[in-house]
Amino acid sequence: MTQIASLPKVVLHDHLDGGLRPSTVLALADETGYLGLPRHDERTLAEWFDQSHSASLVGYLAAFDQTVAVMQTPAALQRVARETVEDHAADGVVYAEIRFAPSLHLRQGMTRSEVIGSVLRGLAEGEEATGVVARVIIDAMRHEQDAVEVAAAAVEFAGRGVVGFDLAGPEVGFPASAHRRALAVARNGGLRLTIHAGEADGPAGIADALDSGAERLGHGVRIVEDAVVREGQIVDLGPIARRVHRDAIPLEICLSSNIHTGAVPAGTRHPAGMLLRAGFNVTLNTDNRLMSRTSMSREFAFARSDLGFSDDDLRTVTDHAVLAAFCDEPSRRSVVAAVAARYESI
Ligand SMILES: [Zn+2]
Repeated sequence: MTQIASLPKVVLHDHLDGGLRPSTVLALADETGYLGLPRHDERTLAEWFDQSHSASLVGYLAAFDQTVAVMQTPAALQRVARETVEDHAADGVVYAEIRFAPSLHLRQGMTRSEVIGSVLRGLAEGEEATGVVARVIIDAMRHEQDAVEVAAAAVEFAGRGVVGFDLAGPEVGFPASAHRRALAVARNGGLRLTIHAGEADGPAGIADALDSGAERLGHGVRIVEDAVVREGQIVDLGPIARRVHRDAIPLEICLSSNIHTGAVPAGTRHPAGMLLRAGFNVTLNTDNRLMSRTSMSREFAFARSDLGFSDDDLRTVTDHAVLAAFCDEPSRRSVVAAVAARYESI
């Protein structure tokens, strides 16, 4: 068996505000005069952020309140972005799409464009230092009213590091289709679309996201509810699952996160392996490295130890991710070459 650390990895679903180093949260709180942290040393703060036992979105969201609170200046955003690339590089990642919601970072007077520009500077520094290709997906929050403004700000940076647009936040009661105008602004401005769906809501939310133009699904894991499963195998597909399968819609699966938030019910085996074997376009991702205490290596290790992924399966999900990446074709070719070179050196 190949050492997971040495495998090349591609991550398409990783939240900037879900991946800070605990030491950086402490340092930024200090620098920016933020007094609201619940713990004041690295070890206990890391434990506080660890939501791996919460099995609810509520605990997860309280943790984001804290990271977002220290990400309110250009310097803080730049640092967090640079460190994100450094941490992925150290984990064997060769390509990363990092996402965040600019509207969460306006409390101290930055504009959305300044927020995006600061993150792009940090990612470029990280890219320069490590060789990891890093691109941005901009999130609008589905329960807010500013998605059109967010999309307009994102489009300013199309072709300059921002490659995609996403809807994040609560799914139930806030359908993707309510944001069609914002999605059109993003698409017409040259951005690709991925939408969180099939995490908190079921197949109907997935259908709504696809009808709204989603080219990839953030999670999408609950598509399995539209399939007939017998003895751990998918034996038939309902209409929505059939569509996702037929159109090879990439599923941005995040194993640890899905278990921690309850998207996959406690005590059930994560269906990623079953979906992969049934021919779905499965990719593996981190979602929130801080809150789920994870990394791409840990996700790969979990897939192998608990879900029966072989080395070939891990290569397959990486190849899926390279093909599903929203970067331009020259960048994709360089990622293909980087993945091949790493495999040859194993
Ligand atoms: Zn997510």
